[in-house]
Amino acid sequence: MPLYEYVCPTCDERFEELRPIARADDEATCARGHVGAQRAISLFATIGGACAPSASLGGAPT
Ligand SMILES: [Zn+2]
Repeated sequence: MPLYEYVCPTCDERFEELRPIARADDEATCARGHVGAQRAISLFATIGGACAPSASLGGAPT
């Protein structure tokens, strides 16, 4: 299961939760028990995709 980040609108707490992909956008409950936390859009998720280390891909060595 992937790990998602949520932000609680009540106490501004950020927390992570393991969820099935199908439920990634469901509201979460923060550590203080507030419901209605929304999934945070992380930079990593936005960039997304394969994290190919471009340095090691290289071309033919000269
Ligand atoms: Zn909260």
